[in-house]
Amino acid sequence: MKKNRLAAPDAAALQQLLARVASCTKDFLGYPVSKDFDYSPLLPFLQYPLNNLGDPFVPSTYGVGSREMEKEVVSFFADLFRAPENDWWGYVTNGGSEGNLYGLYLARELYPKGMVYYSEATHYSVQKNLHLLNMPGIIIRTLPNGEIDYDDLEHTISMNRHLPVIMLANIGTTMTEARDDVKRIKDILRKLAIRHHYIHADGALSGSYSAFLAPRPAFDFADGADSIAISGHKFIGAPIPCGVVVAKKSNRDRIARSVAYIGSMDTTITGSRNGHSPLFLWYAIKCLGVAGLEERARHSLAVAAYAVERLNENGIAAWRNRDAITVVFPDPPAAVRQRWQLASENGWSHLVCMPNVNRQQVDAFIATLTSMPAAI
Ligand SMILES: *Cc1c(COP(=O)(O)O)cnc(C)c1O
Repeated sequence: MKKNRLAAPDAAALQQLLARVASCTKDFLGYPVSKDFDYSPLLPFLQYPLNNLGDPFVPSTYGVGSREMEKEVVSFFADLFRAPENDWWGYVTNGGSEGNLYGLYLARELYPKGMVYYSEATHYSVQKNLHLLNMPGIIIRTLPNGEIDYDDLEHTISMNRHLPVIMLANIGTTMTEARDDVKRIKDILRKLAIRHHYIHADGALSGSYSAFLAPRPAFDFADGADSIAISGHKFIGAPIPCGVVVAKKSNRDRIARSVAYIGSMDTTITGSRNGHSPLFLWYAIKCLGVAGLEERARHSLAVAAYAVERLNENGIAAWRNRDAITVVFPDPPAAVRQRWQLASENGWSHLVCMPNVNRQQVDAFIATLTSMPAAI
């Protein structure tokens, strides 16, 4: 496949797509995806078939990959999530959904008879994951802000005390960015004397910056989580969807299986694994460091506070959860939703103030909103 072999119409189609993608990226406030990255120093790697086949911590016979960088990425997040020393493991996934699938898979292997509990605000992928894993689950009510209803959780678990508890905690729900408090969940388990339990934290949305908030939300290993999944293309930003899952190594060891063909351990969901996405995440954390990530979180929080204030000034009943970068408001007219690519659910829409979103964009959004005759 040599360069410049495209027929003219195909080359034109590609150009057209490029222009459309660029223009759609500009007015994009409704999904939690950062767009302010520049990974051009990594372009030469597109010439190679990077594949981190198998376990990142066990070398493979297939040498064209980015394992070293992947290990550094996992180690960075294990540290940030206060994973137990010498008892952590993880890998770079294809996104938050795969990380959740992995956490639930580990939980099922540990507790095959376990019952999964998750709130009604949980991401749609979790139900699919449970279906794939053939795990039974119970949906728990949410409080008005989208956080799990702890009373309903306690009551429901108490009726199933004979079963191990597998808890899927949301660290930032999709619609309102509510965080389930892992410490409170742990307290409920203790109160009900549930010995066999597993807590997986779905941090796809805000897991990557919750560690920088003060007070620090209860979401990580030190708070009681057994595994945490985050998305890499959301808060950090990447051209390819990706994520990280961190789990306890001792748990992973129970499902590890050595495979001669790849010369590594079969510990991940997929066989071949994207070797480019670890490079993006590695590059981002090396360039930004903890201080840079913290700064991104601060910026996002400030813009979100600004958006709530401005929307309220304009008579729109916007609100956000504490320390959230997601701003929720009643559904605007379809034309506005389309222009700004706003998701909507049960009469609510949201803006996600990702690190690339600035006050000018918020102002421009509010201007289109207030110029619509039927706005709200
Ligand atoms: C985005 C998201 C997911 C899914 O993550 P992907 O990276 O899109 O696979 C899961 N849970 C929550 C809360 C999310 O916001």
